[in-house]
Amino acid sequence: MSQDVQLDSVTMRFGEAIAVNNVSLTIKAGEFFSFLGPSGCGKTTILRMISGFMEPTSGVVRIGGADMRGIGPNKRPTALIFQNLALFPLMTVAENIGFGLEVRGVPSADRARRVRELLELVALPDTANKRVTDLSGGQRQRIAIARALAVEPAVLLLDEPLSALDLKLRQHMRAELRELQRRTGVTFIYITHDQGEALTMSDRIGVMSRGVLEQVGDGPTIYDHPETAFVASFVGETNRFAGTVAESAEGWAVVDTGFGRLRGRNPRRLSPGDRATLFVRPERLTLGQEENALEARVSHRDFEGAFVNAFLDGGLTVQVPHLGHDPVFVPGQAARLGFRATDAVALPTAP
Ligand code: ATP
Repeated sequence: MSQDVQLDSVTMRFGEAIAVNNVSLTIKAGEFFSFLGPSGCGKTTILRMISGFMEPTSGVVRIGGADMRGIGPNKRPTALIFQNLALFPLMTVAENIGFGLEVRGVPSADRARRVRELLELVALPDTANKRVTDLSGGQRQRIAIARALAVEPAVLLLDEPLSALDLKLRQHMRAELRELQRRTGVTFIYITHDQGEALTMSDRIGVMSRGVLEQVGDGPTIYDHPETAFVASFVGETNRFAGTVAESAEGWAVVDTGFGRLRGRNPRRLSPGDRATLFVRPERLTLGQEENALEARVSHRDFEGAFVNAFLDGGLTVQVPHLGHDPVFVPGQAARLGFRATDAVALPTAP
């Protein structure tokens, strides 16, 4: 029953401002797809265009292959869940879940059966007669999902649905949402500014910046093979070595940086003379590595429990697992570090 969603050169303008700039993408049927990006990058606008609450300035949205131009939100096979859930506080759980079915004239016996099924699905079978105000934040979240799924949407659109919950519950709900998506097989389109949510739940992620879809890929691809400086910086922590390309060959670039000549992958085929930044993850910058060796003074270190983060002069960060013995980073002393060229990526320096 799930359907794919196709965005074909979709653009949304508000006066002079371009909220969504020429986005083309196919979200597969049954996929858990997340749009990830900072506030104001256009995520919500994309969701509104898919749900039909906004028509694109240009371009076409297709759901299950059907052109959605001129088709209102109620006529689309989508359901939307907001951050504030919008459950009806004076109704019981069962009435909330059954609301959409009642509006569609589903007889009450069928409605009751469907409500029972959905409560089983979200693992809250005994709450039918409770008021939603008597439920915890996480339980309300699950009721909102049950209500959205009641009308059997082919595509469920989720607009930062976990952001009002506390950290522990949010992490728990990630696993629940993922599991629900697998069980129902419905296409989930999830928007978030939280990279942890996107990385843990999604089959694929679309990273957005200023209305532009910068990169689409699964979590490991986005994290290990960023294609733009924005993606490298926004998803995960990173060290930056800015400079100018000195040499380049098939797949490789040597960049002249403040730490000397450093080598990394060159997916964008940068040429000598181009301004470039080498990006290296803090956990890939390691002590005693001879390749791309460099030296920097330790300024301070933070103990995080499982990890120790060491901060070095030149804006560098190194992350090492805390293995019970004192790590080698001593504030004030120089550390010799390096990274494998395969763990570094040279990208055009952001303007
Ligand atoms: P957030 O996470 O803060 O909701 P977002 O990534 O969802 O951000 P959008 O809400 O899609 O971003 O907004 C994208 C841009 O379009 C923003 O610059 C915003 O100010 C602008 N915008 C959104 N809706 C409208 C509107 N109805 N009229 C004018 N400008 C709008």
